[in-house]
Amino acid sequence: MPATADPPDEHSAPDEHSLPEGRRLTIVSFHAHPDDEALLTAGTLARAAAAGHRVVLVCATAGEAGLAAAGYGTGDSLGSHRVAELDASAAALGATEVELLGYADSGLHGEVVPTDGQVRFVDADVETAARQLAEICRRWQADVLTGYDPQGGYGHPDHLQVHRVARRAAELCDVVLLEATVPREPLVRLLRLGRRLHLVPASLDLEGYERAYTPTAELTHRIDVGRHLAAKRAAMRAHASQASADGGARTLAVLLRLPGPLYRLGLGREWFVQPGLAPGNPLLDDVFATVRSSP
Ligand SMILES: [Zn+2]
Repeated sequence: MPATADPPDEHSAPDEHSLPEGRRLTIVSFHAHPDDEALLTAGTLARAAAAGHRVVLVCATAGEAGLAAAGYGTGDSLGSHRVAELDASAAALGATEVELLGYADSGLHGEVVPTDGQVRFVDADVETAARQLAEICRRWQADVLTGYDPQGGYGHPDHLQVHRVARRAAELCDVVLLEATVPREPLVRLLRLGRRLHLVPASLDLEGYERAYTPTAELTHRIDVGRHLAAKRAAMRAHASQASADGGARTLAVLLRLPGPLYRLGLGREWFVQPGLAPGNPLLDDVFATVRSSP
């Protein structure tokens, strides 16, 4: 049903934010695992790419500790699948570069112990990882770097580490830092509704979400990605291993099953906080807004 729910994206249509000064800007979007970019930032990145800007995806790990159906294997086998999925997601979004920092996936509860001497991302020295990320930002002449909010979204230890590393990298190089997040109160309301409709598994810790992500009043950017939902859905679909499970429901699978209008309602906007910037009214609807307004 959802396959035909989104109209095709209007990549060739003029966008009011497309290169008004004829300057191509660069956004480096930093994530913990393949599929995080699709869930949190896909529409924003597709919109930036469609407007002619350069989009660079950076992933700290290959996501080899993620859950997936047994057919995808585990460890390195799953990691290779997920890196290929990341490449497919990047292609769907118009991201031209994909970089991996090469850390091990720490697992949902930081429980994974790598056997090959690889450093888990949660154990990475923040300064070392931030220098790696800053070097990528410099190489691609980044204008904007995206990281995660101080809660690490829903609190995965690798997502908390993305927050720390991106904050430090932004200090090391001259970029605008935007922290990808979700407005907390509407998310909690949506999850409660989803539970009543049996779309959200009973095992999900709803109480935990009352401390997750960011209070609405603290958001600085609300990016309308309504014209880029086909690309966003294609990026989410590219992560097929993460919509698979031998038992239980997966967030990605639940979201991909949403009918068009609900998908648009839940995923048609993406949110960011620019640390140090007071929230305006209305919120900024352009990830490059504060780059362009700087002298
Ligand atoms: Zn993740």
